[in-house]
Parts: sequence; C-alpha cells; structure tokens
Amino acid sequence: MENGTHVHHQGGGLVDTTAATITIKGILSLLLQNVDEKESKKRLISLGMGDPTAYSCFHTTHVAQEAVVDAIQSDKFNGYAPTVGLPQTRRAIAEYLSRDLPYKLTSDDVFITSGCTQAIDVALAMLARPGANILLPRPGFPIYELCSAFRNLEVRHFDLLQESGWEVDLDAVEALADQNTVAMVIINPGNPCGNVYSYQHLEKIAETAKKLEILVIADEVYGHLAFGDKPFVPMGVFGSTVPVLTLGSLSKRWIVPGWRLGWFVTTDPCGTFRKPKIIERIKKYFDILGGPATFIQAAVPSILEQTEEIFFKKTIYLLKQSSDLCCDRIKEIPCITCPSKPEGSMAVMVKLDLSLLDDISDDIDFCFKLAKEESVIFLPGTAVGLKNWIRVTFAVDQPSLEEAFRRTKSFYQRHARKL
Ligand SMILES: *Cc1c(COP(=O)(O)O)cnc(C)c1O
Repeated sequence: MENGTHVHHQGGGLVDTTAATITIKGILSLLLQNVDEKESKKRLISLGMGDPTAYSCFHTTHVAQEAVVDAIQSDKFNGYAPTVGLPQTRRAIAEYLSRDLPYKLTSDDVFITSGCTQAIDVALAMLARPGANILLPRPGFPIYELCSAFRNLEVRHFDLLQESGWEVDLDAVEALADQNTVAMVIINPGNPCGNVYSYQHLEKIAETAKKLEILVIADEVYGHLAFGDKPFVPMGVFGSTVPVLTLGSLSKRWIVPGWRLGWFVTTDPCGTFRKPKIIERIKKYFDILGGPATFIQAAVPSILEQTEEIFFKKTIYLLKQSSDLCCDRIKEIPCITCPSKPEGSMAVMVKLDLSLLDDISDDIDFCFKLAKEESVIFLPGTAVGLKNWIRVTFAVDQPSLEEAFRRTKSFYQRHARKL
C-alpha cells in the first residue's frame, strides 16, 4: 500500500475516511475559499468540476424536459416506485444498453439508482466481505476509494499507462490480484484522462479478469461521449468472457447530473449473478436505498427512445471543439503539456513541468496560487492519484476556456524560472 490510501480498520468502530481519501469536492471547495475575485478583479472560472450545466451551451434536450413534465402532469407517479425501480424504466434501460451488445439484457438485469454514484456504492457494498480487496485505476475517480473505505474493502491501485493512451497496466493487475481480489474497475470513456479504450484492449482486460477469476466493474457514465478515432465499445460486449457490472446514468450524456437517474446492470449472459441468493441480496440492499424520484424514472422510456440523434451529435461536436481548443491553448503555455489528446468524456490530464517555474512546489501549490492570483480553478492531479499533473474539465463554453488559458499564461509568465 502506498500514497496514504490505506483503509484503517478501527476495532469495529467508525472508519476514518478523512485520512484515507480526499474528495474532488473537498479539494475544490478549499480552492474556492482561496479565490479572491475582488483582489484579482477577475470573475471565477472553474475548469475543476465536471458539471457542464453551469454553461448554457451544454443544455439537455427538450425531449427530456417534456418527458419529465408529462410524467408529473399525468399525476400517476406521485407514489413510491418498487425499490429496484419502475418496471418500464428497467425495461427501457435494458433495451437501450442491448443495442450495443451481442445479446439481449432483460429488465431483471437492471436496477435503478440515484445517479452513477449510488451504482458505485451498490457494486462495492455487494462485493465487500472480510479480507476482500479491489483493484482500482490510478489516476482514477476518488468516489471508489471513498466507498471502499466505508466498506472496509482494501484498495490496490494499478496504473493507467499514459504512453499507451492510458491503457490499463495489465501486468500490474496480474501482480496485484490474489485469491481475495473481488473485482477490477475500469472507467471508459475515461475520467480523469479523457481516453477511450479500443475493442482489442477491452478484450485483453476481459481475458485477464477471466484468468484471475475476478469481475469487471465498468463505469460507463460517459458512454457514447467519444469524439476521437475510436468508437465507444461497452465492456458488456465481453460479458460472456467475464461477468461485468455496468454502471451508468443519464447525468453526462443527457447533461442532467441533478436528476440523479442512474443504473446498476448485470451484463452477464452466462448468468453468474442470476443465482437466487445473489438476486435476493441485491434486492434487499435496494430496500434500504431509495432511488431517484418516481416521475424521473417514469420519464426514462421516452427519454431513451425519443432523443434525436442531432442532440447527441451536437454535444459530441461541442466537446470536440472545446477539447481541441484546450489542447491548442496548452501548447502556448510552456509549463503545461497535454501528452494524450482527449478522445472522450469531459476531462483531460495535463502534465506540469515544475522545472520551468520558480516558486511552485507541486500541483497543489500551482492550483492554489493560480486560484488566488487569477481566479481560475483546475483540479490538482494529486486528488485523482497523479502528483504534478492537473485535471482540466473542458465541458465549458469557449470564451471561458479562452479566458482561463489567457490568465494561466500570464500566471506562467509571472512565475517562470529566470534563467
Ligand atoms: C460523474 C461521474 C460519476 C457519477 O455520476 P452521477 O450520475 O452524477 O452520480 C461516476 N463515475 C465517473 C467516472 C464520473 O465522472
């Protein structure tokens, strides 16, 4: 174990998660406290948090809005939904995901959660048992570490290899796994790296997991948000090689993170999860959860069936434009580089070259000073497991991106090492 991400077992008492993990929201709120818009005389621009709804160019489709209005006005969805989700919602998600799979999912495979965040919690809660460990990507998404800490699930990190487009270091996965390893997590399209995995790489992941007899948890919350050369391929395509748990939500593709509509899906045509005891356990756990509002669930079939292709194309186009702009502006600032161009999702990892800066000690120091002096926020890479990198969220309107990089450039010029 390294990097202070141990989980401390405290004699059956409360788990100390503060020592175990920093959350993205936690570090961003510290950065925000450091911003002084009056002193810098500049409005705050945050490229730190992944909520594109802050910018009017990223807007959901009227189809989704009308579906919700209709559901409310029908007056039929004011009661409790079944704890695993409304039947028509489960069926619609099964059909939606089956479009990209070589087999058909059924509604029994689908469980409705409060966003993808709760789907992560369900997956880890179902897998945790004394002594178990889970393999997580580094850099990654800190909710997995936080959930693991609450579940007393030991975390082991494998690296994503920047030189190979942030592919999984499968040798490391094999070296880390033992008889107590329950699963490995992949996030595709990737947050924080903005990478998209090829069919061949996903196939290798499936074969490795099969050999190690572990499950794959596939976080596909950015599913279909791919704008590079590689198409998005869901991990469930390899469900007959290895059992896959697919996690997703409406949040990113439909740009409605506040609607809290997500899914936990067993993409497993061999039926490993269809044992009565496992189903019973999942169902009981859902009895204590309370998923998204019933009328939001009721709107899902119309949202999935009626959203026009043009809406998806527009979002992809905007993300591509923004990510290109990001990469171009980064090239003009010597102390930051973007070694892997983003191909999907809404974020990219950018490398800091501290040797070109005079009085900046690390990524955290860089982000704090930039916030204070320029009212620009980036997420320090340390928050996602990669020191001296920063994560840049590019789901931002173009004028704000231009302005953020203009200020970052002048910050660099003020702090550049004098030769
Ligand atoms: C945003 C995000 C989530 C959480 O999704 P919600 O639907 O907002 O809960 C999960 N995983 C990753 C990688 C994300 O970026």
